[in-house]
Amino acid sequence: MKTTVIGLGAMGAGMAGNLFRAGLLTQAWNRTPERAQSAAAQHGFTVADSLESAGAQSDLVITSVSADADLQQVVDRLARVMTAGSVVLDTSTVSIDTARTVAERLEAHGIHFLDAPVSGGKEGAEKATMVMMIGGDEAVLEQIMPALNAISRKVVHMGPVGSGQATKAVNQIMCAGINQAVTEALAFGQHQGLDMDKVVDVVSSGAAGNWFVEHRGRNMTRGIFEPGFRLALHHKDLKICQTMLAADQVQLPMVEMTLVHYERLMEQGHGDEDISALYRAKRPLFGEDV
Ligand code: NAP
Repeated sequence: MKTTVIGLGAMGAGMAGNLFRAGLLTQAWNRTPERAQSAAAQHGFTVADSLESAGAQSDLVITSVSADADLQQVVDRLARVMTAGSVVLDTSTVSIDTARTVAERLEAHGIHFLDAPVSGGKEGAEKATMVMMIGGDEAVLEQIMPALNAISRKVVHMGPVGSGQATKAVNQIMCAGINQAVTEALAFGQHQGLDMDKVVDVVSSGAAGNWFVEHRGRNMTRGIFEPGFRLALHHKDLKICQTMLAADQVQLPMVEMTLVHYERLMEQGHGDEDISALYRAKRPLFGEDV
């Protein structure tokens, strides 16, 4: 199965590298050529001349782009060149409506679409330990399992197109709460004058342990917020969740509060930092700066 990755950012580059090492990647493409060249130099794969040439030669295209409008642009271009029977698997986080719209656009050309948002962070993409929540035709999913096994540790079929993104919305609401809890608790610990490496070590091993404190805890207490997962992208995800909730006239306190905090941080120029930059908003509660 000839496979291409479109979008070589924090997530896409790692996925492309793992597919290449598994002998499954034909080529990869990124909008900004310098980023493509840097990922290709790191992993050894070939960069396609254009998105169109990559799409035309592929049985499977895996997309990893920022937001809804970006996916729509990429899919419009792919629909013109990919052959009937081929598959687009999107790992970006977008709305359910966008997943359904691009699926219809592709199906009109006989191209299959699966919405396949992921969790596990940049590290998960690099180490092939991501989990994938997938919406779409299960038979199509079965066909591409060798590629998914090369980039993830767990794949769950959730139902029709859009159900992957609905599941990801659950994940992103939970991540907001975890980010709030971890940043607040660690800011408290730092104020107590504790050895924060020891704190992270011991709480990670107990009932409060979680992926975020384990992977981001030490860095945040040192004031290092390198992404990871850009704060502006989680803000985009929570806006999607807010819209879904508004359809049922529901407001979730944690979603609303985190959006306000992220918006303040984005106004202060921290949108391209990791979501753990929420720590910047917690230390001042104790009269301290990051
Ligand atoms: P990122 O590092 O900011 O990379 C974004 C990628 O999208 C870049 O390759 C960018 O190309 C490309 N792109 C954006 N707009 C485009 C367009 N209009 N046409 C073509 N390419 C476009 O983001 P990321 O962290 O890899 O995240 C990618 C997606 O996965 C997002 O939807 C994010 O919410 C989701 N996600 C991220 C994580 C995480 O931990 N990072 C985890 C799970 C899911 P350029 O280089 O040209 O800008």
